[in-house]
Amino acid sequence: MDDYALVLNAGSSSLKFCVFQRPRGEGWRLAARGQIEGIGSSPQLSVKDPDGQCLTKQKLDATVRNGRDALDALAAWLRFKYGGSRVVGVGHRVVHGGSRFKGPTVITPQVLAELYELVPLAPLHQPYNLAAIEAASERLPGVPQVACFDTSFHRGQSAVAELIPLPRELRELGLQRYGFHGLSYEYIASVLPEVAPSIANERVIVAHLGSGASLCALKDRKSVDSTLGFTALDGLCMGTRPGALDPGVVLHLFQGLKFSAKEVETLLYKKSGLIGISGISNDMRDLLGRREPEARLAVDYFVYCAAKEIGALAAVLGGVDGIVFTAGIGENSPEIRERICEACAWLGVEIDDAANDSGGPKISTEGSKISVWVVPTNEELMIARHTGALLGLAKAAQERT
Ligand code: ADP
Repeated sequence: MDDYALVLNAGSSSLKFCVFQRPRGEGWRLAARGQIEGIGSSPQLSVKDPDGQCLTKQKLDATVRNGRDALDALAAWLRFKYGGSRVVGVGHRVVHGGSRFKGPTVITPQVLAELYELVPLAPLHQPYNLAAIEAASERLPGVPQVACFDTSFHRGQSAVAELIPLPRELRELGLQRYGFHGLSYEYIASVLPEVAPSIANERVIVAHLGSGASLCALKDRKSVDSTLGFTALDGLCMGTRPGALDPGVVLHLFQGLKFSAKEVETLLYKKSGLIGISGISNDMRDLLGRREPEARLAVDYFVYCAAKEIGALAAVLGGVDGIVFTAGIGENSPEIRERICEACAWLGVEIDDAANDSGGPKISTEGSKISVWVVPTNEELMIARHTGALLGLAKAAQERT
């Protein structure tokens, strides 16, 4: 009977998961990675083996309407596939750890209650992350559940980088810049010595460009600053979020245009950014294939913001030695990488077109003052490493992906 550990990354309409298995007498290794998409609309389960070969792709019953149903569907597949094996731990992605949770934490009822208090700070993600923890705890009583936070990696930044310049009594309530995508940045920082040794311990800007997008300034592989702040709304333009916004706009929405709090929340989390500008799609791939001026404007603004914020983080670092692109857009779009790098030519960035088209890992020319890289992220592996370490499953850390 083998042991296995699960990694869950629960979103509003998808449940991403990885299965790490430990055959008798051996170390931990990735056995499967998959997702249930279309929860609440047309749910579908797809699972691949570590080499990317399809293990299963099946439509699920339309009664899979929420995260709990999705977890039941996943449990049924796990029983079918790994029946007789034992789950020894579950690692969860949790977007917001607030000021209290500075590292991976074993879930207790008290911890869960504190994490629920942070739901208003991450309404797009936190409720689903926590629902998955509750559902998994109910279905697997006695199996340790570990929360791994997107905010933790950024703790340790300077006082000014974390500061929100409001009166002290408000700051004491937790109003500070937290930063997000930390599991992704932590993973990238962990592989830099192997993938890009020349910049590993230098001044690096990592661009995590996916549906959510942010930049992180690394010095010696530690987070010095990032573009996301108190919530995941700040910084770069994203798929459905605007990025940095004059707070006067929010005041005007309330006072002038009489929006309710819920309407403002929906506008800022779901209707702005690429979808808001284009009115066409929140998906970069779609937009790049369109000719409408609104689609072009959305892409132009995305590139403009990224380049502008790279400039700001370059100033924070006092110069840049390397830029790393990661996540859906960063890993897969040569066009966006090229356009951002062109806008950073003033920093001494020079792109090698052929290397960029083939995806790197190094995509800058030999003469470029700053080296530029494409490094696929792996947040799930980071969660597995933390879960393994915390539960004494240390070998999970070394597994191949
Ligand atoms: P998340 O995990 O936050 O949902 P991802 O990191 O998967 O997001 O990134 C999703 C984004 O990546 C989408 O905007 C998608 O269009 C974009 N993307 C994926 N592949 C490509 C591609 N080949 N070219 C351009 N954009 C792409």
